[in-house]
Amino acid sequence: MLKACVLASSSKGNATFVRIGNDRFLIDAGISARRINKTLREIGENTRSLKGVILTHEHQDHITGIKTLSHKYGLRFFSTFDTYQRIRKQVGSFDADFIEVGEDFQVGDEAIITPYEIQHDSADPVAFLIKDRNDIPLVGYLNDCGRITPFLIDGFRNVKVLIIEANHSFDLLLRSSYPTFLKLRILSSKGHLSNWSAAEFINATVPQIAVLSHRSEENNTPGVSLSEIETLLSDKITKPFIVIVPDKERSTIIRTLE
Ligand SMILES: [Zn+2]
Ligand SMILES: [Zn+2]
Repeated sequence: MLKACVLASSSKGNATFVRIGNDRFLIDAGISARRINKTLREIGENTRSLKGVILTHEHQDHITGIKTLSHKYGLRFFSTFDTYQRIRKQVGSFDADFIEVGEDFQVGDEAIITPYEIQHDSADPVAFLIKDRNDIPLVGYLNDCGRITPFLIDGFRNVKVLIIEANHSFDLLLRSSYPTFLKLRILSSKGHLSNWSAAEFINATVPQIAVLSHRSEENNTPGVSLSEIETLLSDKITKPFIVIVPDKERSTIIRTLE
C-alpha cells in the first residue's frame, strides 16, 4: 500500500510525505517543522510516526525544517556525505546516516530506496527511486535536476508515481524579468527541468501518476504547465493521471492499492 502527499513544493520550500506499509518518511524538509506537523495532521499522519527524512541536496528550500525535526523530534536523516557536510555548515550537527549513489538503503522495513546521481548546482544532489520488497517501483522523485539522462529514464521506467520537477515554461522564462545570469543558471545542465523536459521524461518512463512539482512562481503557472505537458504527451503511451501541486498548499493524497 502506498500513500504519498507533496506537503509543499516550489522554489520556496519542498517536502514530500511517503508511506509504504508501516514505513513513513519524508523526502526533504524545506518548510518549517510546524508546517510539516500541521500538514501531516491534515492527512491523518503525524511527525512522531516518521522513521526518517531522506535528503536530496543542501539548498535552503529543501532543509529549512531540519534543525527542529532533529532536535525536537529526534528524527534520523539520510544524505550523502557531501550533502551532509554542506547542511551541517548551515544548521549545525544533526543525526545522519550516509547514503551513496546506486547503493540501496532503508529507513524502516518495507521501502527499498535507491539514490540516483543527478546534475544540479549543489555538492552531491540525488534523485530517489523507492520500491517495495517485491521490487515494484512505487515512487520516483526527480527534482532540482538540470538534465534528464538515459540512466535516469532506464531506472524510473514504469514507476507508479512519478514526482517530477516541471519548474518553468521555456517561453515564460525567456520573457521574464530575471537577470540573464539567472536565466542561464536555470537553463543550464545544473539547473532545473522545464515543462518540456518533464513531458519528455513522462513519455519515456510511462508512470501511472505524474505529480508536477517544484514549479516556479515567476516563470510558470499551473495552467501553462499542464497545457505544455499535455500537448507533448505521446499518443503511443497510456497517459498518466496528472496531479498539480497548488501554489503554497499541499497536493491531494496519492494512493495506490498494491
Ligand atoms: Zn529546490
Ligand atoms: Zn536546488
